[in-house]
Amino acid sequence: MSPDSNRTFFLDGQEIPFREGQSVFDAAMSAGVFIPHLCHNPDYEPHSSCRLCTVIVNGRPFASCTQPAVAGQMVQSDTAELRAMRRTLTQMLFVEGNHYCPSCEKSGSCKLQATAYHLGLQDNHYPQFFPRREMDASHADIILDRDRCILCGLCVRISRDVDRKNVFAMTGRGIHTVIVVDSASGLLKDSRVTVEDEAVQHCPVGAILVKGKAFEVPIGERIYDKEPIAVASVRRFQAREALTHG
Ligand code: SF4
Repeated sequence: MSPDSNRTFFLDGQEIPFREGQSVFDAAMSAGVFIPHLCHNPDYEPHSSCRLCTVIVNGRPFASCTQPAVAGQMVQSDTAELRAMRRTLTQMLFVEGNHYCPSCEKSGSCKLQATAYHLGLQDNHYPQFFPRREMDASHADIILDRDRCILCGLCVRISRDVDRKNVFAMTGRGIHTVIVVDSASGLLKDSRVTVEDEAVQHCPVGAILVKGKAFEVPIGERIYDKEPIAVASVRRFQAREALTHG
């Protein structure tokens, strides 16, 4: 179904058409307006946990990925306050983990790195936490590098809802929160995970990687090497919409 011209809301002053049931995020991206996001992958159910996609709707903050579009709404996304909030949230993710972009296989196709560039981050601003997190390289085909995990929960949701395996879960609180694996030993090698699992394919950062594939696409030719995340995400979203809704 195409967006209904009678159903529109205003995003930073721009009139945005939407379909019944669309979220503010989906309608904005369909209209070519990028809203920064990390925990949300438009191919899966939104979760609104990273709060990066927060917008102001009629004066109140909401996660745009789960906020339904409503006709006549006045929505703000590109404001100084929201840009500052997104920078702070992203900086916190960098200091709460151990992210070494220059040596990471995901560099150039990492959503965290690309979002940091989009937000114009020059440094982490806050003191580094340097948490100790265990790496799991036990599996023949898959590696789980918890240092790089941003705890977006996407692998947990996909493994539960799509792969129907519940391989991943989150445990602990605050800085001690980590991804754990459902197996007697707690190791990937003893779990039901396989390289075909969708949960393995969609980690937005380099925390879950398929062994032997990391440098298949050379540095300089990776998705965000070629175009910034704001352009690449909107392009991908609109292509997906064209396929689904014509
Ligand atoms: S391993 Fe990846 S997908 Fe899973 S919570 Fe961490 S960053 Fe998100």
